[in-house]
Parts: sequence; structure tokens; C-alpha cells
Amino acid sequence: MQSQTKHPQLFSFEFYPPKTEEGAISLHVVHAQLAKLNPDFFSVTFGAGGSTRDKTLDTVIDIQSQGVAAAPHLSCVASTKDNIRAILKNYQDKGIAKIVALRGDLPSGMLSAGEFRYANELVDFIRQETGDYFQIHVAAYPEVHPQATSAAEDFKNFKRKVDAGANAAITQYFYNADAYFYFIDNCEKNGITIPIVPGIMPITQYTQLFRFSEMCGADIPRWMRKRLEGFGDDRASVQAFGLDLVSTLCQRLLDNGAPGLHFYTMNQSVPTLAILERLNIK
Ligand code: FAD
Repeated sequence: MQSQTKHPQLFSFEFYPPKTEEGAISLHVVHAQLAKLNPDFFSVTFGAGGSTRDKTLDTVIDIQSQGVAAAPHLSCVASTKDNIRAILKNYQDKGIAKIVALRGDLPSGMLSAGEFRYANELVDFIRQETGDYFQIHVAAYPEVHPQATSAAEDFKNFKRKVDAGANAAITQYFYNADAYFYFIDNCEKNGITIPIVPGIMPITQYTQLFRFSEMCGADIPRWMRKRLEGFGDDRASVQAFGLDLVSTLCQRLLDNGAPGLHFYTMNQSVPTLAILERLNIK
């Protein structure tokens, strides 16, 4: 596998914009706990169909004002060149310098994302409009994007985003480390040298995880599915198994040169902190 160790280790945490006042208060606590680990940045998602645009901005400003860099996700869905230009200007005015650029998930019935069809077009536009100002992260799919016509085409499409000017990538979550190592080898063979940070999804329950994995194309290996199902309502056993499994995965990734880890926190600190403690990252 490519040694990605030449990059400094990058740890980042992903939030979604809270939907309620209660959620906002809880996120403040979660943010404060995770900020103690001195992450590279916090990222904030952009709801399907652009539904949380203002909330993404508010959450990012709130986080950035507390001293750690924040990276808003920005998607092509329902976007025009004019409104993306305005959003970029707003981010620049607020001193936000990192962006996670995505196509976004299309709401059912929508066939095309809008003026930008794919993330590579968005990356290209950001570079044209703002030069090197933003550090741009893009998504990568070691287990292949669910709508891709083939694994080879999907990889070519990933390379388009890198060629358009992405500085780093964050992967969809996975539980097969070999899929990531294979992807990194392929990057090396194709001259892609940007850091590709594994996306990590802690396991706290399984019905939602199975449903979500089905939609986003993350493979849950049969042995893992059977084990999780076998715990039934015994939540403590699900969590203990999930902690063992995910911390072992993270350790293996880091030991083999992964440049850091990006945690899909689901706005909770405890599962992520437990994993990092196992990894001795405090
Ligand atoms: P793209 O890179 O554009 O790829 C989408 C599909 O089109 C792929 O199948 C690809 O092979 C194909 N393709 C790409 N370029 C071309 C081209 N030029 N010609 C032909 N085919 C092409 N979704 C949200 O709605 N909000 C979020 O905040 C969000 N955050 C995410 C964060 C991370 C780290 C990840 C991994 C995913 C996130 N997603 C989010 C989900 C993401 O938006 C979906 O997976 C979406 O379906 C694809 O987005 P993308 O940027 O990878 O798209």
C-alpha cells in the first residue's frame, strides 16, 4: 500500500447541523469534549437537496468562533453558479478556509444535481472563482459509489476531482480495511498523492446502521451482520463489539500508513472518544 505517512496525521470530526434548540445545546457540549483533542477541523454536513444551507453556515461560524477550524460541506444539489459564488464569498468573509465539496444526495425524483452535475465541476468552479484560497476535501469510495457504472469508471471520476484541484479526500465509511488499502494502491499507480483519510463510523446500534449502509453502499460483512443481529436488544454488547471492531480497524489503518481518521460522530462524543482512547489518542 502507498505510505501516506508523509502527511501529518489528520483527525477530524463530522457533525450535522442540529435541528432543535436542545440539539444545539447538546452539540456545544460534544464539540467542547472533542475540541480538547485538538483536531485538524470539524466538518458540518449539508442536508440533502440543500435543505440545511443556512444551518450549515450558522453551525460552522459557531464552531470556528470557538477556536478550531470548521469545514462546511457544500453540495451541487439545487445549486446555481450564482448562489455557490455568494456562499463562497460569505465563507471567505467569515475566514472559513476549508470546504468539503460534494455532488450531494439527490432527493428522490430528481435526476440531475443542477447547474453542477458532479463534484468535479464544483471543485473546478471553486478553483476558478477563488484560486487557492480554499483547502478542498472531496469524497472517496473504496467500496465503489453505489450509482457508479463500474469500479473503474468510479475511480476515473474520483481522479477528475483530484485533477480539478482537491487537496484531500475523506472516504465513505467502510469496515473492510483491504478495500481502503486497494484504493490507496490504485491512487499511487495513478499518481494521486493527496491524503485520503478514512471515514470512520462508530457502531452504537445496528438497525439504522444496516439501513444507512444499504443506501450509501457501505458493505457490512456477513459475519459482522450476524454478530450484531445476534445481540438483539442487548445494546451494551452491541456497543462493546462495535468498539472492539472499529478501534481494531482504526489501528490497522494507521499502522499501515493512513494519514489520519475522519469520524462520522452523529453529533455524539462518547463513541468517538472511546475509540480514540483505545488508540491512545487523548
Ligand atoms: P461525485 O464525485 O460527483 O460522484 C457521484 C457519482 O457520479 C459517482 O457514481 C461517480 O462515479 C459519478 N461521476 C462523478 N463524476 C462524473 C463525471 N464527470 N461524469 C460521469 N459520472 C461521474 N451528502 C450530502 O447530501 N450532504 C453532505 O454533507 C454529505 N457529506 C458527505 C461527506 C463525505 C465524507 C462523504 C463520503 C459523503 C457525503 N455525502 C453527503 C454523500 C454524497 O453526497 C453522496 O455519496 C453522493 O451520492 C455523491 O457525492 P460525491 O461528491 O461523491 O459525487
